[in-house]
Amino acid sequence: MEKIVILTGAGISAESGLSTFRDEGGLWAQHRIEDVATPEAFARNPALVQGFYNARRVQAAQVQPNAAHQALAQLQRDWPGEVVIVTQNVDSLHEAGGASGVIHMHGILSGALCAACGHRWTAPPEMAPDEPCPACNAPSGRPDIVWFGEMPYHMEDIFDHLTTASIFAAIGTSGEVYPAAAFVHEAQAAGAHTIEINLEPTGGGFDERLLGKATETVPRWVDRLLMAKT
Ligand code: NAD
Repeated sequence: MEKIVILTGAGISAESGLSTFRDEGGLWAQHRIEDVATPEAFARNPALVQGFYNARRVQAAQVQPNAAHQALAQLQRDWPGEVVIVTQNVDSLHEAGGASGVIHMHGILSGALCAACGHRWTAPPEMAPDEPCPACNAPSGRPDIVWFGEMPYHMEDIFDHLTTASIFAAIGTSGEVYPAAAFVHEAQAAGAHTIEINLEPTGGGFDERLLGKATETVPRWVDRLLMAKT
């Protein structure tokens, strides 16, 4: 049965109230990437980096999944084949909307990781600059987030899914952050039909485009797919 692989980005969570990368006035606009989202930044100023992610964790805890998250969960339930959701987002809105098995390639805000021993645990709402690791006691707890310059998670699984997909959709992602930006080419080379669902075209070379707000376009796309199957 046909397998659908979906890549989501910050745009799918925008209407839930989480700012995208480039939103004016958003959290990201107030900080430079080099100051808050690299391993070097954490080594230089752990208080600033933990403070940035603490603020994002607080914000993420206050928002609700939207119609786009819910529509993808419905697609997972009702599509006769496999539906794999890969997200660049570090929020948990896909899960809150009912999705399962979501692959978080850039990590997750609710997770903590020990930079010294690699132990993982659930992040407290506020992480301290010298957050102790519950396994080895080193003051090396950091958000379990993939920073710029680090290797995204689950890449082997993701490429296996891309090369066996019949349909590949990229939703709410600018296509500027690699390796996710190259997924469309991987899926296309394997023969998948590719579709971009975004506010604006990104120039990724997709077979099809659906432009507009995710809360409108994603439910429409899901309805279309499910209708075609009945
Ligand atoms: P991005 O900000 O670069 O791009 C967002 C895209 O979504 C843009 O193309 C924009 O046109 C589109 N968009 C904005 N509002 C939309 C809406 N309502 N409906 C449909 N599309 C909409 O984000 P990205 O591509 O995900 O990549 C940048 C990085 O930022 C990622 O690594 C990601 O981890 C990180 N990020 C994550 C979150 C989150 O977890 N919610 C938020 C901001 C940034």
